This record gives sequence, structure tokens and C-alpha cells, in this order.
Amino acid sequence: MELVFLGSGGGELWPSAFCDCDACRRCVQEHGEGLRIGSCLLVDRTYLFDLPPGVNVSAIRHGVSLAGVRHLFITHSHQDHLDPCVLAAAGRVDGPPLQVHCNKRVIDLLPAYQQFNRFFDPQKLNLHFRTMQPLDVHDDEGGAFSLTALAASHDTTGGEQPLIFILSVAGKTLLYACDTGWPPEDSWREICRWRFDAVVLECTCHQLMECRSGHLSTGPFLELKALFEQHGLLKPGARFIAQHILHVHRGDDPSAEELDAVFAPHGVDVASDGMILNI
Ligand SMILES: [Zn+2]
Ligand SMILES: [Zn+2]
Ligand SMILES: [Zn+2]
Repeated sequence: MELVFLGSGGGELWPSAFCDCDACRRCVQEHGEGLRIGSCLLVDRTYLFDLPPGVNVSAIRHGVSLAGVRHLFITHSHQDHLDPCVLAAAGRVDGPPLQVHCNKRVIDLLPAYQQFNRFFDPQKLNLHFRTMQPLDVHDDEGGAFSLTALAASHDTTGGEQPLIFILSVAGKTLLYACDTGWPPEDSWREICRWRFDAVVLECTCHQLMECRSGHLSTGPFLELKALFEQHGLLKPGARFIAQHILHVHRGDDPSAEELDAVFAPHGVDVASDGMILNI
């Protein structure tokens, strides 16, 4: 299974538009070195987790085509996880449809998204939407993949239930958990039924502040990793990856190197835009 991290940032992006903090200024001066768009993961060039602003530009920047994407898994409606402008310009008029798996709130917001682009017509764009709720399982008809949706512990404005996903393809299993805080009991029970080749878990607040609910910081993130190990949920050689790295406009955000120095001793990779892992 190939994992391409097209985005690794939090909702603020890094650098943020109009932000003049040291971290953002440095990134601009270095022509985008260390740039993080919203979090997004491309799996086997076929499955895409989330659709943040700039995802198509990030793909081009890293020499990756999105033309092979058949399934889009949207975790929730927050702007850093679903940019309706990108969806409205999907551009797959012919060929196989793009299947969009998402929660009901995203479906409910589609008419509002049409305000962003009056030409946004899912039917014409060959977009097929499938609503998922926690514990729903979608087995692809051709048997190519299995997708399980689980509840995240995250913002529920508008009655939304943000989702995290377990994806199984050709004997490899991945957990994609952004944005989630500490997993709710039902989600953890389901997670405990699997063994993973890779866990991509948000560590949004990393060293900047303590977060356990809604988002995770370094301490709770490492506690969760220890639980995965105690319960034998990681296959030998499994990768554990910190994703969704926040920027807080203060200029004291740790650099990618500083984050690596914190996480590497714990056997954790920190995602960066353009990072590719084969598991
Ligand atoms: Zn987010
Ligand atoms: Zn969110
Ligand atoms: Zn900044």
C-alpha cells in the first residue's frame, strides 16, 4: 500500500494567508519549504482521504496525478477537510464516477456549496455521494476494498458526526483518524477488532497546548499509541504517523526537524507535505 501525504497541516494552513509570524515568514522566504496545506492522504493513487484547499496544486507540486482517484473519503465538513471549490471543479465529466463517501452533514451542505460555484452540478460532474454513519461498512462490489466508518470525538456543530475510517485494501489495513480527539468507546471497540499496517492519527496541537478532546496533543497521542501496542493492534513493522499539524500564528511553532526529534524516539513518523510511505 502506497501512502502519499498531499497535505499535513491543520485548519490554519502553514503559512497562513495574511500571517506575518516568524514561522510563516520563514516558509515564504524559503519558497514554501515546510509548507503544510490541510491534511489529506492519497492511498494507492485510488483512494483519497479529504479534499483540502489547494490539494490539486499540492499534487502537481509533488508530481502526483489525481486522475486515478475513484473514491473520496470525507471525514467532516470543516473547510480544511473539504473545499467545495475543489469539488466543484472536479473535472471528471467522462470516465468512471468519483464516489464520495461522507457523513449526512456534508450531503446537507451540498446546496450551500453550490453558492460557491453556480456550475457545481454533482450529476454533470459525475460525482456519486454515499452517506455513511458510524459503524457503517462499505464493501466495494469488486472486492477491491473495504471501508469502515467510525465516530470521531470532534466538533458536532449543525448535528454533524465527524468520521474516522478504517480502509482495507489487498490485505493491508489503515486507520485514518483526522480530526478526532480521544476515540469514543464504540469506535475504540471496533478499532480493537483490527490489526493495522499503518495508523495515521492527528496530533493537531502537538507541543503547543494540551488537547485530548476534539483534537490531540503529543501526550495523549503517545498514550494512544501505547494502547495500540498493549492491545496488539499493530502488525510487525506497522507505521504510526502524526498528521494534521497545527500552526498558531505565534511564530513559536516547532519546525519539522524539531517535531521529528520529539517523535522519532517513540517510533512515530511526522507527516509532511509530499511524504511517501510504502507499507
Ligand atoms: Zn482539521
Ligand atoms: Zn475539524
Ligand atoms: Zn504564521
